[in-house]
Amino acid sequence: MRSDDVISNQDVFALAIQGAQAALGLAEKALQEALALHGPDRAVEYPETCYELPAVYAWDGREAKNLGQLGPILGTQRSKLGTEPTLANALAAGEATMIAAEVIEALKYIETTRPYESTDYMGFVPDKVLRELGVAFVDDTIPGAAVLVGTSPDPDALVKIVRDLQSKGLLIIASGEVIAQLKGKGVQMGERFRLYPVGVSTQIVHALNFAIRAALSFGGVQRGDREGIAAYLEKRPKVLVIEFGPLDPVLAGAAMAAVLNGASIVTDQPVEGIPEKLVRVGEPERMVQAGLEARGIKVSLAPVDIPVAYGPAFEGEVVRRPDTYIEAGGAAKTTTFELLRLRGEDEVEDGRITVIGKDVDELPEGGKTPLAILVDVYGKKMQVDFEGVLERRIHLFVNYAEGAWHTGQRNILWIRLSKASVAAGLRLKHFGDIIITKLKEEFGNIVSRVQVTIVTDEGEVMRRLPEALEIYSQRDARLAGLTDESVDAYFSCFLCQSFAADHVCIITPERLGLCGAVNWLDAKAACQIDPHGPNQAIVKGACLDETRGQWQGVNDAVYEGTHHKLERFNAYTMMEDPMTSCGCFEVIVGMTADMQAVIVVNREYAGMTPIGMKFSSLAGSVGGGKQTPGFIGVGRKYITSKKFIPADGGFLRIAWMPKELKEAMRDSLQRRAEELGEPGFVDKIADETVTTEADGLMEWMAKVDHPALRMPPLLS
Ligand code: SF4
Repeated sequence: MRSDDVISNQDVFALAIQGAQAALGLAEKALQEALALHGPDRAVEYPETCYELPAVYAWDGREAKNLGQLGPILGTQRSKLGTEPTLANALAAGEATMIAAEVIEALKYIETTRPYESTDYMGFVPDKVLRELGVAFVDDTIPGAAVLVGTSPDPDALVKIVRDLQSKGLLIIASGEVIAQLKGKGVQMGERFRLYPVGVSTQIVHALNFAIRAALSFGGVQRGDREGIAAYLEKRPKVLVIEFGPLDPVLAGAAMAAVLNGASIVTDQPVEGIPEKLVRVGEPERMVQAGLEARGIKVSLAPVDIPVAYGPAFEGEVVRRPDTYIEAGGAAKTTTFELLRLRGEDEVEDGRITVIGKDVDELPEGGKTPLAILVDVYGKKMQVDFEGVLERRIHLFVNYAEGAWHTGQRNILWIRLSKASVAAGLRLKHFGDIIITKLKEEFGNIVSRVQVTIVTDEGEVMRRLPEALEIYSQRDARLAGLTDESVDAYFSCFLCQSFAADHVCIITPERLGLCGAVNWLDAKAACQIDPHGPNQAIVKGACLDETRGQWQGVNDAVYEGTHHKLERFNAYTMMEDPMTSCGCFEVIVGMTADMQAVIVVNREYAGMTPIGMKFSSLAGSVGGGKQTPGFIGVGRKYITSKKFIPADGGFLRIAWMPKELKEAMRDSLQRRAEELGEPGFVDKIADETVTTEADGLMEWMAKVDHPALRMPPLLS
């Protein structure tokens, strides 16, 4: 250490090398014990991932599926470990620490898939979380991830840091004593809050392997491609580490592992520092900003001036009945609706918020109220067709407020405000502030004036309801007439190219983007808002193949959009030149081995499917922006579209889907089956309670006389 108490980089590097030796020692010992107990053939895996041990998969490349394969992998790390305190040796130490931690953690999953059950920790974060967050990462709703490590000297300052990160939309992974500190301060953690408390020590590797899997699944980086993974992680996902307290050897090793994986570290320790990689910040209130700058994270969220925290972190927050101050709609059974309308220039006073009836401070705790949220907008480029697009955003905008819960849309709404949020000063009128701020932020190019009226007076709510119902039905009629044939242009979506470099979604009226978040009207609105943005209009041009759904204009756009890697796309078949898949698909459609049927599997389903692969394995082979004939990633709603793989037999090809998905979609599945003259079809679709075997599925199809059996094979 230098005489002025600054920790020199050489000291940090030396500590990291010591840490790697210690971590390797622990991993080797744990592995020996596991081998003695279970033998070399015992399987080792994390749950719900197709990337085995992801850090090993990416950086080493060798198979790591059983205990016997782990020894040589640790041996290689030990052999690469140098002794001189240089940056290169420190990075090697970082890699060794990461691989050792990965092995130590993976061994905990040998006998159970939930080693952290009944603790405050999550441990390994499954692939499905990454895929669910995919779109939020690419559209910068989540501009990056922050990893909190160590023990904060000031828990109140730590809470402020978390609130700051949440308001900026960053995903947070916590490791170390900070977890107990946050819990002690009442900060809610878990998947719903995008704050993942992975564990106290070696579990920090789950922050690294989360980022690594983003490169593997969205970037299409292949196993063992060290240059590819390093190059990708330099760009995305943007990770910053905020480290509190003294650097011990293992923490120093972990810090160098983070640097190896493209992260920037901000520490409160007096380090000499490495520009943009290791930065000392003495004052806790400056750590977030310094970290954002070091890692080049740009925050685009406009601050919303309300009395509670606001940000995407609260999107999944649920306000439970005992914690509810007031509720509307849903189980409260009060009339509740929301309506956004395009009005004339003179009818909208920008920024005006009106409350008709009582606000929550005049309503009794634990009560219920009717509620109408009326939003009037004006803008020269705003169109009536975009009303629904903007209106559907209200759900997200309101949910971003801590303690506000909003579900449903139109007149099927359920809204709750928590006791804590009302005590903090949140009122219904603040919905107006939220909606005005966010609409202007997201749709500022098409909307120049916004006014909001909140109605709780029952007579007034009832008086205004018929007009809303009439407008909803007019919109439905317009949408029903919107088909692939009735429009001249489709839209591309390049949003996911920041993760999957060659992926492009082609969005048609009857086929939404595979993430399920962008339909044709959304894309059209986005194109109006930013003509040079990720959604571009594609004039269909000459139809080259009506059955398979191929147009010259689409092919040209695909050729350019995939950087000349692909020459054509078929919209109506999954067997030949299908659309590519990035990684954030809601469901995967895959052909069965006998080519007689297809299965549909959603990312929430963790079990086996009759094609011998779980969703996680399927996703690993289908994603990354590749064309994979026989397999497509799609949005849920596409399953019941009239344009669902019509060239392959369409909807009636579906022979299997998970029970939960079937039940969640039962009404729309039933409607589509009836349209096709097969009212009993939905019950002919098998699920995991019937079989997860290929033979079992064939037997089931024969037993129920499944219509796919009367079709020619998918490939003849
Ligand atoms: S529509 Fe396609 S490219 Fe666009 S965000 Fe969704 S998955 Fe990504």
